[in-house]
Amino acid sequence: MFTHKLGLEYALEQDESDELKSYRNQFHLPKDQHGNNLIYMTGNSLGLQPKQTNAYVNKELDDWAKLGVEGHTTGDTPWLPYHEFLTKNMADVVGAKPIEVIVMNTLTTNLHLMMVSFYKPTKSRYKILIESDAFPSDKFAVESQLRHHGFDDQEGVIQWKPKENESLLRYEDLESILQKEGDQIALILIGGINYYTGQYFDLKRITKLGHHYGCKVGFDCAHAAGNVVLNLHDSGADFAVWCTYKYLNSGPGSLAGCFIHERHAHNKNLNRFTGWWSHNKATRFNMRDDFDQLPGAEGWQLSNPPILSMAAIKASLDLFEEVGIEKLVKKSQKITSYFEFLLKQLGEDTIRIITPSNPNSRGAQLSIQVKNANKTLHDQLTQAGIISDWREPDVIRCAPTPFYNSFEDVYFLVEQLKTILSMP
Ligand SMILES: *Cc1c(COP(=O)(O)O)cnc(C)c1O
Repeated sequence: MFTHKLGLEYALEQDESDELKSYRNQFHLPKDQHGNNLIYMTGNSLGLQPKQTNAYVNKELDDWAKLGVEGHTTGDTPWLPYHEFLTKNMADVVGAKPIEVIVMNTLTTNLHLMMVSFYKPTKSRYKILIESDAFPSDKFAVESQLRHHGFDDQEGVIQWKPKENESLLRYEDLESILQKEGDQIALILIGGINYYTGQYFDLKRITKLGHHYGCKVGFDCAHAAGNVVLNLHDSGADFAVWCTYKYLNSGPGSLAGCFIHERHAHNKNLNRFTGWWSHNKATRFNMRDDFDQLPGAEGWQLSNPPILSMAAIKASLDLFEEVGIEKLVKKSQKITSYFEFLLKQLGEDTIRIITPSNPNSRGAQLSIQVKNANKTLHDQLTQAGIISDWREPDVIRCAPTPFYNSFEDVYFLVEQLKTILSMP
């Protein structure tokens, strides 16, 4: 799909002709003690801070100082409907309809709330299918749901595993699990992009397959939101959850997103946990009314939310709105393929990229397995000014994010890697 050239000059040319090049300057880039920019490759772990975030958060602090409780209803960004200012942009980022999306809580909390509604085990159909290298929090959440319902937390989990000596998951293996045990599986929960390998799954295909066997299907899109074109609505998934502090650049521990498919928007019979924020906005403050469920994803809210965190999300989403996820993905595919091209020069005896080579089956991340490596390699990279992510036993994850990483970053990262591995 792309053809690249070696040498620094090519990298600089790509940066020069990059239509998104001005955005790098809209983020705070971490620096070393001499004031030089570090090469930041962990936007899949904690996205960098947009420079405009400060103003968005300070505006709400000022409103609070000036208005006190009146800030809920006055000012140009009143807090009562504040989450609504995020909905459209967030829906665009994940390819959903506004009624399907809500920003609330944190990711694992949302995952549990979704399982309250969509994991309804019976004696014969109670198992949960996850991918074998699922993110630990998801695995723990699933196990605790099994225990909560009185099932064995090991026997109740089915893992979709790669074939021996492979790293990526194959759909044929998922199909055979479902053929064999589909009628025992209540829920399929898959990471939209697997955090470890960077494999981006075909959400629609998995959903179709799951629904065919009568399973509910949900996705954890923590590594996918803001990173790939998601089309959550079209995927048909029952639900999805994601955090906003990775590719969505909204700050450490910031609020998470949640998607509930439109077909569940008006279903009042779905089991759910509720609070006053799930209740009809018009009568919420009457306080004495019987519960009146809000339609759509909003009806899963529990509490009035932390506005300062939402302000940071708004700052970031406004940037996404300005650029559009398609343009970001276009650069992401190009810079990631450039990264792959350079890495391949190191040779298969030295490194193996476990992330899929098809640009449509991955986002802005390459997981690099380095032969005979240990964590020293990661420490050496850090000393050389490269922030990357180490996963035991031998994988470095690097995310060349389109908003703020440059082709030059990628060039120097690979040069450093060569030096550390003592290659010519
Ligand atoms: C980052 C990440 C999490 C983190 O969960 P929190 O509740 O935000 O701490 C969970 N699952 C996946 C797949 C992740 O990538």
